[in-house]
Amino acid sequence: MKFLHSVLALFLLAVQGTVLAQDQPLLQLKYEENYTPTYDEVIEMYRLLDEKYENASLIEEGKTDVGKPLHLFIINNKPEFGPEKIRQEGKSVLLINNGIHPGEPEGIDASLQFADDILRNKNGMQKWLENTVVVIIPVYNIGGHLNRSAFNRSNQTTPYETGFRGNARNLDLNRDFTKCDSENARSMNKIFTKWDPDVFLDTHTTNGSDHQYSITWVTPFPDYFPPTQEKFLREKMIPQVFEMMDKGEYKLIPYVDWIFNDPLAGIQIFPDAPRYSSGYASLFNSYGMMTENHVYKDFPDRVKSGYQFMAVLAEFTAANSAEIMKSREKGLQETLELKSYAIDYTIDTTEYRMIDFAGYETSDKIIDKATGLPRFGYDRSKPFSTKIKYYDVYNVSEKITIPEYYVLPQGWWEVVERLHLNGVEMISLKNDTILQVEVDYIDEFSSPKQPYNGHYFHNEVKTHSEIQEIQYHAGDVIVPVRQEKIKYILEMLEPKAMDSFFRWNFFDSALDQREYFSSYGFEENALKYLNEHPDFKKQLDEKQAADPEFAKNHRAQLAFIYNNTEWAEKTWKRYPVGKIFEKARFWLTPSF
Ligand SMILES: [Zn+2]
Repeated sequence: MKFLHSVLALFLLAVQGTVLAQDQPLLQLKYEENYTPTYDEVIEMYRLLDEKYENASLIEEGKTDVGKPLHLFIINNKPEFGPEKIRQEGKSVLLINNGIHPGEPEGIDASLQFADDILRNKNGMQKWLENTVVVIIPVYNIGGHLNRSAFNRSNQTTPYETGFRGNARNLDLNRDFTKCDSENARSMNKIFTKWDPDVFLDTHTTNGSDHQYSITWVTPFPDYFPPTQEKFLREKMIPQVFEMMDKGEYKLIPYVDWIFNDPLAGIQIFPDAPRYSSGYASLFNSYGMMTENHVYKDFPDRVKSGYQFMAVLAEFTAANSAEIMKSREKGLQETLELKSYAIDYTIDTTEYRMIDFAGYETSDKIIDKATGLPRFGYDRSKPFSTKIKYYDVYNVSEKITIPEYYVLPQGWWEVVERLHLNGVEMISLKNDTILQVEVDYIDEFSSPKQPYNGHYFHNEVKTHSEIQEIQYHAGDVIVPVRQEKIKYILEMLEPKAMDSFFRWNFFDSALDQREYFSSYGFEENALKYLNEHPDFKKQLDEKQAADPEFAKNHRAQLAFIYNNTEWAEKTWKRYPVGKIFEKARFWLTPSF
């Protein structure tokens, strides 16, 4: 027995020896030397982790504009990598996106370190994988990351070389989540549909005002969530993540978004519209957020603080996995029961709370070392700590009544395609049909002189609505609104919603007038019309009698006839998506 015990002890020692050997990090990261890996190096490192650990897998998931595939690195606690199976097992999904702006690479390094550490079970990290699967996008903007140079970031000294903000089509991918001009965004939409992440982190770097923090946090925007989720965010997720970060080496503050031109006068929560990663995630009631590392800190500190945030987020997600998933389900139910939906918000400047802020004194007499001239700046020899106001409450400033269905003519196939990418269930009309729908007319809209991310975004939009009978055709699309993707549907198809397809120019051809009348060509038809419509002719006569200027103006009279009769183009400025407010109309009429 004694002998056996000794053998067993020796065996255990050997096993332990193996475990100890595995405890060493596999990857050779060089962020301490201000070096961030190239694209090939990043993928090679994930490939090494994939080879070594059977509970991790590097897969290709869709295309990108530069021609290389997008990758996902999936970390589970067993060799199971299918999102459906993972869901069935009741696990939550944490998705981490990196390198959307490749000049901001902290997340790329931090994720590699995080993957290496969790896989080798550093400090028992692997227990988080019992409840949560971590999915990492190694580099999202691959084209930008390949465009590597020491001259891509003028406000940043380290790392010495980085990628470039624009992607292979020079798009800013953090404005492209819903309009999907890039293959990258189309792949991301598919990833969201397939994986339905419960928590989503997108990693960035900011060069806003200077302060003492290495990392700042664009939290999920609570007012953008249904009540159960807003409560979870305000009372649990946001305060606990701050508390957990406080216990570590790097403290966290909200992203410094000035409200009155000076951080000491207060900062406001960043209202992230759906074009942004975090705003896009919230369309699916997913807890989306961004970290913004602070560019004026050293790169190693930025990577380490980003890593600390990832670890905190993974720990929080794992510890609250069931509640996170349940709150999302409850949130969806709450949205499905709404009669009206908020499409615009304004900040409530009467609601704020005090938060700690560690900054530097400012001066406008700092001597610029490059030019020798005085400039405004922050005096890092004069740090201070204070409390500042944090404004994180928004009020609803505009609402729409939720229709039961949208009717989308198939000619707007670019929109249909994006609805498909996002898993929206649609019904195709079986026959040519006239439907009575409510339609919006675009009365006013504004567009910038210069394109913004490949579009002339319509900032101001004013509409009025009318009820009309419209001819639709077999194959046109009915979108039932009360389905899982309700928020996405409303935000994208309501023309006045903040990042709607209308605002992003998907329906601009509806804004042109296609026909008009000629001063001499309209005569025959106008006369025929007046002869056949005595009531209308009477209106014209009355107007001529009441308005002497009008009576003398040939062109104005023809315009009156053209614009107030069937000649007028009903489709001009008519937003092409119709609305039906009656319940269950299409479910009850299977002939469609
Ligand atoms: Zn960024």
